[in-house]
Amino acid sequence: MKTWKKRTKAVHAGTRRSQYNEVSEAIYLTQGFVYDTAEDAEARFIQSGDDEFIYARYGNPTIAMFEDRIAAMEGAEAGFATASGMAAVSGALTSMLRAGDHVVSAKALFGSCLYILEEVLTRFGVEVTFVDGTDLAAWEAAIRPDTKAVFFESVSNPTLEVIDIAAVSKLAHAVGATVVLDNVFATPVFSDAIAQGADVVVYSATKHIDGQGRALGGIILGTREFIRGTVEPYMKHTGGSMSPFTAWMMLKGLETIELRVRAQADTAAMIAAALEADGQLVQVIYPGLETHPQYALTQTQMGSGGTVLSIDAGSQAAAFKLLNALEIITISNNLGDAKSIATHPATTTHQRLSEETRAALGITPGLVRLSIGLEDPDDLLADLRGAIAGL
Ligand SMILES: *Cc1c(COP(=O)(O)O)cnc(C)c1O
Repeated sequence: MKTWKKRTKAVHAGTRRSQYNEVSEAIYLTQGFVYDTAEDAEARFIQSGDDEFIYARYGNPTIAMFEDRIAAMEGAEAGFATASGMAAVSGALTSMLRAGDHVVSAKALFGSCLYILEEVLTRFGVEVTFVDGTDLAAWEAAIRPDTKAVFFESVSNPTLEVIDIAAVSKLAHAVGATVVLDNVFATPVFSDAIAQGADVVVYSATKHIDGQGRALGGIILGTREFIRGTVEPYMKHTGGSMSPFTAWMMLKGLETIELRVRAQADTAAMIAAALEADGQLVQVIYPGLETHPQYALTQTQMGSGGTVLSIDAGSQAAAFKLLNALEIITISNNLGDAKSIATHPATTTHQRLSEETRAALGITPGLVRLSIGLEDPDDLLADLRGAIAGL
C-alpha cells in the first residue's frame, strides 16, 4: 500500500472486511463489543490490538477504517476521528497543552478556532501570541525557546492568505515546538503537509471529505505516538468521538474526493480568472491567480488554488444585492460542498469580530466567499456574471 498513489489509497486504504467479505465497507453501528470470557475483557482493557475494540467512544471498526484511510492519504502514521472539525482542533490543542505553555498562532483564523485560542486556552493558563501568518519575521520574533506549539490555517478563511508550512515548521522545530495545522482549504487532495513539516494535521471532514453537506466530522492526524499517546486518551475520555455511521459516510466521501475536489478547483480557477478579466469587481482573491501575493508559494505547496475564491463587491449593499440575485449558487455557510455556496463573512461567520478586527483581517463589508461546487462551470459563471451585472 505504501507505494500506492493518493487516489488509490482514497478508494482502498484501511479496508477491514468481515467474515462475509463485503465489497462496500460495513457500518458497525454498535456502541460496544462482547468478550468471550472475563479474562478476555480484562486483557483487552490492559492492552487492545489494532482490531480489538472496547467501546465506540474509544474506537470502532468503521471509524478505524476511516482513520486509517485518511492517514494513508495524508502520509500520517495514525489518525483519531472526531465528532466535528472543532472537536478535532480543540482536541489536538488541549490534549497536548497545559497551564504555563506558550503557543504562537496566526491571527487570521476561522471564528471558532479563534475562540479556542483566544478564550479557551487562555482561560486555562496557556499564553497565546498572535502573528500575521504570512510574515515569517513575525513568526520568528514570536516563537520563543519555551514555545510548545504553533497553530495556523494553511489557507486562511475567508481572505485566502497562504502560509508557508515548510518555513514556519522550520522555525517551530528549531525550538522543539509542535506544528498543528488546520488544513481544511488545502483539502487532503492538495495537501503534502506532513512531508512539508507539519507534525499534526487537522481537517473538518464536514467540508470536502463528506463534500455533500450531510454530516459533521473531523480528523486529527499525526505520529502514532502523538495520536495513541496524547490525543486518544484525551478524546476517548472527553467524548468528542465520531459516530460509526458518520465514519461510513466519510469513507464513501474519500472514495470520490480526488475527482470532486479537482473538478471544483478547476472550475474555481476558471471563474476567478474570468471575473478578474471582466474587471467589474473591486477585487478577486484566489490563490491560483498570478495576482495573488502568495501565488508562487501556492504552486509549490498545493499545486492548485483550491475550491474557494473570494470577491469584493465594494459595499455590504452591493454584496447583498449580488447574493440575492444568484439563481444557482445558494446562500449558506458551508464550503467544499457539491453545491456551490456563497457566504457574506462580515455579517455571518465573522459577525462576532469587532469592526476593527475584521478590517485588520481584510474582511471588508463587500467581501463574498464563494465555495465552488460540481455544477457545470459555464452555468456558474453565467450565474455570477448575471448577478454582478445587476450591481
Ligand atoms: C469549518 C471549519 C472548521 C470547523 O469544522 P466543523 O466541522 O464545522 O466543526 C475549522 N477550521 C476551518 C478552517 C473550517 O473551515
